Amino acid sequence: MALKESEAIVLRTYPLRESDLLVTLFTRLEGKVKGVARAAKKSKRRFGGALEPMTYVRAVYDDRERQELVRLDSCEVIESPMAGEVTYARATALAHMAELLDQLMPDREASDAVFRLTLAVLVELRGRALWMPVTYFELWMTRLMGFLPEFTECAVCGRALDGTRAYWHALADGLVCADDKRIASSEMSPESRKLAAQMLRSRVSDFAEFDWPKVLAADLRKFLIQILERHIEKKLVTAGMLDKI
Ligand SMILES: [Zn+2]
Repeated sequence: MALKESEAIVLRTYPLRESDLLVTLFTRLEGKVKGVARAAKKSKRRFGGALEPMTYVRAVYDDRERQELVRLDSCEVIESPMAGEVTYARATALAHMAELLDQLMPDREASDAVFRLTLAVLVELRGRALWMPVTYFELWMTRLMGFLPEFTECAVCGRALDGTRAYWHALADGLVCADDKRIASSEMSPESRKLAAQMLRSRVSDFAEFDWPKVLAADLRKFLIQILERHIEKKLVTAGMLDKI
């Protein structure tokens, strides 16, 4: 027995055998961990609503050496995203966060920065705000993964992009100037570049009162999703769902 205790975010669950669930947790202690919650489907009492995606929990699990799956002993809810009003839009945003964490975080690699980011964004998602926390999370995840390109200079010629138009292409890295843009490039508006710069030096709570309609920085989100999808080499299912909201 090697019992471990850690704060964690539930990312997803999957039916396993008759009554067990396979649970993916993003733990503060050691990053992404997969485990089995025995009889979780039968005994609602044991895990209750603690296994809903993006629930912030205190997890205790048995981690035997040389076994890929831990055995989830208990999960105590610290904060449930289901406590507030759950609209389809909000549920989709939560699913999007869970998918990003699940796809981007390597197994058993702790990241306190990502953990703190997640908790801070979850707080903002409890209210009515939707696109602001989603944009902030995508931007910061891209940066913390080390995928975020420079926003202030052309990726090809190095010219400063301040005050000039900037473009990006689905298959190339970074922003480029008008001279270096390829066919079928998209433009990133100066407003979105400015918002990104502001978000990169502010806390998500600083934007709590900010009115953020879907169209605001939609080009930035599209840019970020394409970067992330290129790195994980697959489509993010929830990005398409968010798009349709
Ligand atoms: Zn250039």
